Amino acid sequence: MDYPDSDFSDDQRELRAAARRFATQVLRPAGIEIDRLPPGAVVARDSLLFRVVREAAGLGYMKLGGVPEVGGLGLSPLSRYLVLEELGWGSPGITGVLFLASTHAEVALLSGNPVLIEEFALPYFGCTDGSIIGCWAVTEPDHGSDTLGAMRPELDTKATGQVSARRDGDNWILSGQKSAWVSNGPIATHAMLNVQFDPKGKMSDSGICLLKLDLPGISRGTPLDKHGMRSLPQGELFFEDVRIPAHNMVLRSDGYAAYMHNHLSAFNAGVGCIATGLARAAYESALAYCKERVQGGRPIFEHQSVRARLFRMFSLVQSCFSLSRDAWVYNITQIQQGGQARLELSIGSKVYCTQAALEVATLAVQLHGGNGMTREYPVEMFLRDATALTVADGENAFLAQVAASLL
Ligand SMILES: Cc1cc2nc3c(=O)[nH]c(=O)nc-3n(C[C@H](O)[C@H](O)[C@H](O)COP(=O)(O)OP(=O)(O)OC[C@H]3O[C@@H](n4cnc5c(N)ncnc54)[C@H](O)[C@@H]3O)c2cc1C
Repeated sequence: MDYPDSDFSDDQRELRAAARRFATQVLRPAGIEIDRLPPGAVVARDSLLFRVVREAAGLGYMKLGGVPEVGGLGLSPLSRYLVLEELGWGSPGITGVLFLASTHAEVALLSGNPVLIEEFALPYFGCTDGSIIGCWAVTEPDHGSDTLGAMRPELDTKATGQVSARRDGDNWILSGQKSAWVSNGPIATHAMLNVQFDPKGKMSDSGICLLKLDLPGISRGTPLDKHGMRSLPQGELFFEDVRIPAHNMVLRSDGYAAYMHNHLSAFNAGVGCIATGLARAAYESALAYCKERVQGGRPIFEHQSVRARLFRMFSLVQSCFSLSRDAWVYNITQIQQGGQARLELSIGSKVYCTQAALEVATLAVQLHGGNGMTREYPVEMFLRDATALTVADGENAFLAQVAASLL
């Protein structure tokens, strides 16, 4: 299935074709194989996941966003969108690994601070073997939605955050734990970490720091065994009096809400793109199956009620293309130019596209009949992955509440 591409350049068509090849030949089969592995085997040294990450890094898929001055590909937001959607089609979980890997490096770049760029951005964008992997550690065992609501005054709660930062001379000292939901937590070498300053304050009394995850005092939990997105390793991070230099605290409370507004805008828009790829994958699998499976003496595709369901799926995927692309291109452009993103647009894309992916995957399973329940077909995995995406980066109903406060 293709979307109308009359406004793409030849380079963009080639980029998309290359990403589609990689998604078809590498990501889809790897995603299916990894889905069946226990979490420990997924993160083991030289596992299939690491081999795929290395291959993706060699092809440049881990540095789509960085500017060429630091070693990134410097792709336009639209070109980056085309790649993300294709990779999401192949495996939303592995795409999550690749998408989040650059988090710390991109935050360092945005900071404009030469020391942080030297320490975090240059090594990452110069790395071609996938050995540097970042993550965004925000969720805490007792604070999921709370941490994301902190950017809106009406949703900002008074609560004791579970990772605190206190100043000690030229250092910050970090203590506490992040929840098992940190994507890439078990395999990350670096993190963007949200920390709270005043444990008696509000969630918005927080900051953001960048750090390497091999510092003394850092440990990790066992990788999470979960229902969907199993190729995206997740796990806890623990901090016991971890010392980081003062300049690694990129952001203090005063700019926190505004920064998180843009950060969530980028991430929610990214999830919208990945979910669009997943919705397309489920639709295409169902369409192919319906043209092969014979019941009532003819391919089920010829039955009117089957066609009606396929058309519903088709129209959902088409609308995802438009919304996810618009939200991503507009908001990434704004952020790159130092402007304010429209968070409600990104949340609109994330919520709509993940709900659409869930509906399309549900219909795909039903159109496969009994076969849809088996692992012989990928649609049951698509359904589990789509469910996980409705919670990733903020649970949809809560995000809708955040977006509504901005209207
Ligand atoms: C696939 C996946 C990837 C993820 N990746 C990361 C990651 O990279 N880094 C990271 O730190 N975290 C990550 N997360 C965690 C994710 O951001 C949280 O799960 C999400 O924010 C919800 O938090 P919670 O699980 O604590 O649920 P809760 O916040 O406990 O919410 C439970 C329910 O209560 C509702 N609710 C909560 N508060 C309110 C309110 N004020 N008003 C109305 N309803 C409310 C929610 O809508 C939800 O339905 C990931 C999660 C998943 C599933």
